[in-house]
Amino acid sequence: MVPPGAEMDTMIHTFDQLGLSPELLQGLIKLGFKKPTDIQSAVIPELLGGDRDLVAKAQTGTGKTAAFGLPILHRLKAEILLPQALILCPTRELCMQIARDLTQLADFMKDIRILPVYGGADIRPQLTALRRGVQIVVATPGRMVDMLRRKAVDLSVIRCVVLDEADEMLSMGFEEDLQTIMTSVPEASQTMLFSATMPRTVADITRNYMQDPATIAIGMHNTGPDNVVHEYYVVHARDRYLALKRIVDLIPDLYGIVFCRTRQETQEIADWLGRDGYPAHALHGDLSQQQRDRVMKAFRNRHCPLLVATDVAARGLDVRNLTHIINYSLPDDPGAYTHRSGRTGRAGESGVSIVLINLREHSKLHRIEKQIGRKFISRTVPSGDDICRVRLHDWIKRWQNLEPESALLDELMPALIERLDGMSRDELLRKVAYQEVQRLLEYYRDQPDLNPEVRREPHADKSNGSNTTHGNIELVLNVGAVNGLTPTLLLRMIETVARKQAVPVGRIKIAKMQTYMEIPASLATYIVKSFNTHPPEISGRKVNVAVAGARRQLFRNARSKVGGNTGRTGRTRPPKRKLFRHSGSRSS
Ligand code: ADP
Ligand code: MG
Repeated sequence: MVPPGAEMDTMIHTFDQLGLSPELLQGLIKLGFKKPTDIQSAVIPELLGGDRDLVAKAQTGTGKTAAFGLPILHRLKAEILLPQALILCPTRELCMQIARDLTQLADFMKDIRILPVYGGADIRPQLTALRRGVQIVVATPGRMVDMLRRKAVDLSVIRCVVLDEADEMLSMGFEEDLQTIMTSVPEASQTMLFSATMPRTVADITRNYMQDPATIAIGMHNTGPDNVVHEYYVVHARDRYLALKRIVDLIPDLYGIVFCRTRQETQEIADWLGRDGYPAHALHGDLSQQQRDRVMKAFRNRHCPLLVATDVAARGLDVRNLTHIINYSLPDDPGAYTHRSGRTGRAGESGVSIVLINLREHSKLHRIEKQIGRKFISRTVPSGDDICRVRLHDWIKRWQNLEPESALLDELMPALIERLDGMSRDELLRKVAYQEVQRLLEYYRDQPDLNPEVRREPHADKSNGSNTTHGNIELVLNVGAVNGLTPTLLLRMIETVARKQAVPVGRIKIAKMQTYMEIPASLATYIVKSFNTHPPEISGRKVNVAVAGARRQLFRNARSKVGGNTGRTGRTRPPKRKLFRHSGSRSS
């Protein structure tokens, strides 16, 4: 431990101690930045002091943009109208955000031109701006290469190249573009790499384009900030969307991002939410630039407080005061979770990151816990009553703080009182409260409990016997007739997935959105695993498979025979929900 006094002497507490120009200090005051963050205190003196290459890692939301932006601006020569710094980042949203952040920092500097250069937009205005002269270019790699091919940009006096979110650029396949760009800048220029995660692929960049880089790492290995609370809900795969809606209903003033794994899933969830009356927009790479701009604008100004996004689209986004991140599905790469949850809890704020997992995703969750160095708190999916309770209390609280000042109201009060004459205070409150949660009450009436543990069917044994052939188990697939699935396609799919094993498929029922099929219980683990490792697709939708609720007990027995153990009790589908019917098994 460092004695408090000693700490005071070595720590940097203010921006002026860092030796930044008066114009930049003024800009910082205007932005309300009172003192440098840890990464800023470490990086800024290093960059102001020399031209050594740098690899800097710090948690999400800790101000990495200003950490490289301030020294770049400080060293900029305003009289030279050529790009002196090049900042590369993976998406156009991030590109615009960085350009905007730097422009704000440079507010009090004279004649500084900063240009975002990104794909998917008309190239002509960007070409014109480049021709007119800029000093800092913030670019996505693809468009930058385009500019180089057109000889539209002069990189001869570049002093410094920043790779922001370098790992994401690599995983997006920008490696070749980066190579082209890096070989077009002067050899002596300084290269810097910033991210919250540094997977092994980044080492290649370090080796190929950097010379003896200094390394600055703030915070523990790949961990997220500790001002974010991590929670998880376990639900059956098929209940995921219902659970999402309940969580959204539970949280008053939710302002957050719902993360999905694929573009299709992202669009689908946003569409469903929209259809169900939630203010949600999708953000992913299939949208046009105008659409993306519109979505981001509506999200930033809170007109649309729910953004459904892919990992790529939301990487690095800085939107302040987000209350929640919801992981609708888990990312394949645990490192991606760090970036997802890091969209909340920015600049020391607090936030909550919620994860929805199905019954087989506990191990994935543990991997993430290890990666972020934090534990997830288990939550149960709220019932309709829970939701109404929370919403009513929240409503009352707001009500109490309401100060209804209105001359018109003063004037109308006697008449209103007269109209309600004879109504008791209790009766009045009851009516108003009812109106407040009426939609929720009606929607949630008779809705099942979505927590797998408590969903038990009283006559499970009987239904087991009547529906499944002995020794068979029923699997449920997330696709059905609407996806174009037919029995033949299904059988072919199983053949492809279960390459090494002949699977005698029993009864098949193709419902609208789901499909049920019977297979020998002894093959269930193999099939589920095979589907999970190589999920086939039908009409662009990834097919996944789970053991249907009512057969879980059987499944467990089958697994324990081969040494596996789910460690969970048998659970069944709720009695209310008949998900499919067909003439053969319809009970009279
Ligand atoms: P990172 O790139 O590390 O994820 P950003 O650079 O996007 O983080 O910054 C996160 C947020 O913190 C931004 O809203 C930024 O304005 C704010 N911020 C950055 N530096 C400071 C500071 N020294 N004091 C207060 N807020 C800051
Ligand atoms: Mg950043």
